[in-house]
Amino acid sequence: MPLVNDCVFCKIIKGEIPCSKVFENDKVLAFLDIAPFNHGHVLIVPKEHQHSVTTLDNDYLAAIMQAVPRIASAIMRETDAGGFNLLLNNGSVAGQEVPHVHLHVIPRFTDDIMLFNPAKKSYPDMKAMQDLAERISKRING
Ligand code: AMP
Repeated sequence: MPLVNDCVFCKIIKGEIPCSKVFENDKVLAFLDIAPFNHGHVLIVPKEHQHSVTTLDNDYLAAIMQAVPRIASAIMRETDAGGFNLLLNNGSVAGQEVPHVHLHVIPRFTDDIMLFNPAKKSYPDMKAMQDLAERISKRING
């Protein structure tokens, strides 16, 4: 199931709708976000349709991250950005609008608006924090 018909990013990958492409190889396509948070905002999209990063094939996962240094460096050189944020919204509760995995590369400028400024939470105590880490670790390791 590499691509599906009713997905906007699959249509872009298939060339059925246009995009402003910046990079492509056999595993990923990267193009300008049509409604950018900042000048030069790029999306890196795997050429396999998966809604969630948790089910994406390892080859595609690796290809996304391998593309980051080249793409982000080029964006910074072209836009004079001082840095960038990587953002992956996974699930609608996390703000995912397009149900095809994509990594945002968002260039940052000295005086731009802050994208992320949530109030930080705290654990009741160190024991609660360690207990949670152990439970997550058990789920990771089976
Ligand atoms: P997300 O909220 O993480 O799902 O982000 C989806 C992103 O896709 C948004 O930033 C949209 O502006 C962008 N987007 C949606 N349709 C297109 C399109 N046809 N071309 C380029 N970017 C798009």
